[in-house]
Amino acid sequence: MDLQYASMHHDDIDNSVILCHACDLAVRRRALPSGVRALCPRCHTALYDTPFCSINGMLALCLSAVALFLPANLFPVLELHFLGSVRTATVFQGAMAVMDLGYWVVGIAVLVAAVIGPGLLLLSIMSQILLVKMGLNPGWQRDLYKWLLRRHGLFSQITMLEIYVISFLVSAFQLSDFSDIYFGVGTFSFTMLFLVTLFLQREYNIEHMWSRLND
Ligand SMILES: [Zn+2]
Repeated sequence: MDLQYASMHHDDIDNSVILCHACDLAVRRRALPSGVRALCPRCHTALYDTPFCSINGMLALCLSAVALFLPANLFPVLELHFLGSVRTATVFQGAMAVMDLGYWVVGIAVLVAAVIGPGLLLLSIMSQILLVKMGLNPGWQRDLYKWLLRRHGLFSQITMLEIYVISFLVSAFQLSDFSDIYFGVGTFSFTMLFLVTLFLQREYNIEHMWSRLND
């Protein structure tokens, strides 16, 4: 891996200034070629590295997430065996059941955060990757790309898969005292969707996606 010293600009302090964790020197963050690590000019501590997300890596994560999305939402995430009766629930049925009880705001929140949000986020990242792969050359591609990037914050904020992974684990623990709990394809797909989306969001960097417009 090549090493490169990060540059300092005292006159141009903007929101991309970071502090060295070792000596607290303010350093301006800037785009590096891939496989290059930025070092602190004073104490040579590594500040940040591999700033360019690999488009193919993100595409692979995105395709896995899209493949998991349908089974995660169509198959039951929880299966209860209680006194001879079997009950299963998909995320969608859970949201509907809550709405039937009158808590329709909660039901809508569940649908948005567990189904619609992740769906929009995946579609958006997938489209951005495809647009980058097509070269972002005609005007409509650039316009669509910018439109998607501006909405990325909203899509990732309404995606809250982790809450559902935690809540069905908690309810499984609580219910396991008086009924048998089975996890199936739906539980597996939902948990995997959560993990893949987590890695995808970790790999995705909005600043680097914006910088592709200047290439
Ligand atoms: Zn330093």
